[in-house]
Order: sequence, then C-alpha cells, then structure tokens
Amino acid sequence: MSLAYKSINGRRIVADDEKCNGCLICQLRCSFRFEKAFNIAKAAIRVDRFTKGGTDYFISFTDKCDVCGICARHCPYGALTWHKKGERGVV
Ligand code: SF4
Ligand code: SF4
Repeated sequence: MSLAYKSINGRRIVADDEKCNGCLICQLRCSFRFEKAFNIAKAAIRVDRFTKGGTDYFISFTDKCDVCGICARHCPYGALTWHKKGERGVV
C-alpha cells in the first residue's frame, strides 16, 4: 500500500493508491475548480497508471494543490480522504 499526502495550514489530503480504480473523477473535479472546465491536464492531482502483471495507480499532488478537499469529496472509491486540524496527526 502506498499513501501519498499533502498538508497545508491544518488541512491534509491523503491518497490510498490501493483503493483507486483510475476513474479520474478527482482530476475532473479539481480542474473544474481551477479552470471552470473539465481538463485532467490542468488538475492539481495526478493519477498515473502502471500495468505490470495487473493494473496499479499512483496518486500524487502538484504544487498547485492547496488541499481544498474537493477531490476527496467526489472520489467514489474512498481512495482520497481529507482531514482537518487534530485529525490523523494534522497540526
Ligand atoms: S476519483 Fe478516486 S478512484 Fe477515481 S481516479 Fe481519483 S483517486 Fe482514483
Ligand atoms: S485537494 Fe483540491 S486542489 Fe488539491 S488535488 Fe484535490 S481538488 Fe485539487
């Protein structure tokens, strides 16, 4: 299991690669927030696909991500979770 996370100002977004199925809804919602258009190339979250004896996904966040939590609210598979200060060690 690989957990990627990013923290800013008492907020944290956590990605669990194993729960991801590559639907890319997170990227669509994130790009809509920034660009008012669905364009995965403009998202602050990346979902890279690897096919080596199965399909695996690797999630990461770019510098543009400000940990707003929109992607987590719309991930249908629970691969993204958003935490505020005091939760899950967020300071
Ligand atoms: S919305 Fe969730 S399951 Fe879909 S690609 Fe993003 S992290 Fe993976
Ligand atoms: S937390 Fe907000 S800015 Fe960061 S990847 Fe998710 S939707 Fe985009």
